[in-house]
Amino acid sequence: MSIKANLSSIKNSFYNPACLLIAVSKTQPSSAILEAYGAGIRDFGENKVQELTAKQVELPADIRWHFIGHLQTNKVKYIAPFVHLIHGVDSLKLLLEIDKQAEKSSRVCSCLMQIHIAQEETKFGLDREELLAIFQNPELRHLKNVRIIGLMGMASFTDDEHQIRSEFRFLKNLFDECKSLQLPENVQLSELSMGMSGDYLIAQEEGSTMVRIGTAIFGERNYTKQ
Ligand SMILES: *Cc1c(COP(=O)(O)O)cnc(C)c1O
Repeated sequence: MSIKANLSSIKNSFYNPACLLIAVSKTQPSSAILEAYGAGIRDFGENKVQELTAKQVELPADIRWHFIGHLQTNKVKYIAPFVHLIHGVDSLKLLLEIDKQAEKSSRVCSCLMQIHIAQEETKFGLDREELLAIFQNPELRHLKNVRIIGLMGMASFTDDEHQIRSEFRFLKNLFDECKSLQLPENVQLSELSMGMSGDYLIAQEEGSTMVRIGTAIFGERNYTKQ
């Protein structure tokens, strides 16, 4: 199937049609991104800083680029001038650096805090207590060039649908709990980024507002090609 056909069948399958589809284009060539762009997609997700900046200069300027990988503080400066949303923020230190670099571009950079919801040890992210500690840290309210607009999480890599659902439900409950707290002005929680090719329908049923889908749009990634 073509990228365009994949996109329309994914969109047609959505449990929540208002959920934002982010096309995860990591490892994919610009030609594939342009095909999805031609089908109306404007939100693309990348997880490597170098790959993202290279694609950003050569692809249409109205693309909204989402950074979905693990961001190192020393690389924030390369994406802060243009990135639309950083999904994987997992420390106050990183927020401080994003604030500093966004200020240089006179921008306010939108971020999602990444929460560890999977069973696997390897996945990045904060636990509930670490998240609440960041929200309560007095340093946070002084950051004028970052805006925390929600939470992001990745479920376990498993066929166990109950497991996946309970992980997404945990994240949604934490999201709702945080929304009920008194938070600084630069924290306005409206987005819940959860769901990938294999679990986006479960994620939508559990309250996702944005799904990050790669393989189901572009096919299997070829990591040896580049
Ligand atoms: C690669 C990636 C995705 C997309 O995964 P698919 O299974 O190909 O849809 C989503 N989120 C993150 C954080 C990723 O790194």
